[in-house]
Amino acid sequence: MPWPAAVDFLAPLAPWFDGARRELPWRAQDLDAPHADPYAVLVSELMLQQTQVATVVPYFLRWLDRFPTPQTLAAADEDSVHKAWEGLGYYRRARFLKAAATVVAAQGWPEDLAGLTELPGLGPYTAAAVGALAFQWPTPALDGNAFRVLARLLLLEGEPRERAAELREWLVPALRAHGPSRLTQALMELGATACQATPACGRCPLADRCEALRQERTREIPPVAKRARQHTAELWLLALEAEGRYLLHPPAASGLLAGLWRWPTLDAAALPATAGPASGLRAWPGWTQVYTHRREAVSPLHLQRERAFPAPEGLLWVSRAELGALPLGKRDQRLRDLLATSGAPPLTAPEPAALLQALGVTAIQKRESI
Ligand code: SF4
Repeated sequence: MPWPAAVDFLAPLAPWFDGARRELPWRAQDLDAPHADPYAVLVSELMLQQTQVATVVPYFLRWLDRFPTPQTLAAADEDSVHKAWEGLGYYRRARFLKAAATVVAAQGWPEDLAGLTELPGLGPYTAAAVGALAFQWPTPALDGNAFRVLARLLLLEGEPRERAAELREWLVPALRAHGPSRLTQALMELGATACQATPACGRCPLADRCEALRQERTREIPPVAKRARQHTAELWLLALEAEGRYLLHPPAASGLLAGLWRWPTLDAAALPATAGPASGLRAWPGWTQVYTHRREAVSPLHLQRERAFPAPEGLLWVSRAELGALPLGKRDQRLRDLLATSGAPPLTAPEPAALLQALGVTAIQKRESI
């Protein structure tokens, strides 16, 4: 069945959005004019990649306070950028944002979608979203919410992302007619607030034309993607302290964890626990840390040694005062926070000597550290 013309089909969305929109700090009051601060749109879009709106809001406000313009972000040092991003995860986004701000500060904003796509970190979706929301360009941006809404409205069988090119082409006249920013946000808002996994069709402005609703197939459209079973790695997360300093891995220059300091981790399968509290050890309840392609069963430990010793290869001593200012990932922040609490001697844990050996501490260093 051919799709109906988008201009008329989606028309009720535009006025509906005026009453249904959530007030978000990056959202323009006037949806029908170019955004007064395209940088705010860029920041919000990068933050919203893989992070929920409620989590992003306080980060966004602090970020704009700290780095209010592309120029201030471009001039900031990497550590302060990572520190401001700390807790949001996927730190590559912070580096991309700084790199994109550096281009914009030097050359100004691109003048078309191709130019936005060339900014660091802006894939086709983010570039299209910035184009529509910041500049009112008719560049269709389809996120997961928009795909779900369109799949149901048009009764798309199979994975709607495979129809992305057709859907974008279909949407362009509607964006021109109803306003790129308004219609883009309305479509996403409908998916976020009414057309969720279990849709609230009674609140939907398009219920009278939704084919999935008419055919009572909203539960099966779009199909839920099956997730591959993830391996769970079991590890000890170790804060080794001596003379008021801690051992940490300094940031890698590239890769997913670039820019972040890390506590040493030790493979629990290779370093089994023994019963009985060992002296100098504190522990806290463990947790499961979930990443996109990996899960970790984390057991946090604090090992206190009396004297410091030369740091093993790949690790550096960091003072307690410095530790608070270092950018850490979520897992490692959690251990830093735990250190301020009392903890308890572990019922089972590896022997301290085994922990030191696994870290690469030599026999001489071990004697020095007792
Ligand atoms: S009628 Fe229901 S299923 Fe259809 S678009 Fe609206 S909320 Fe989604």
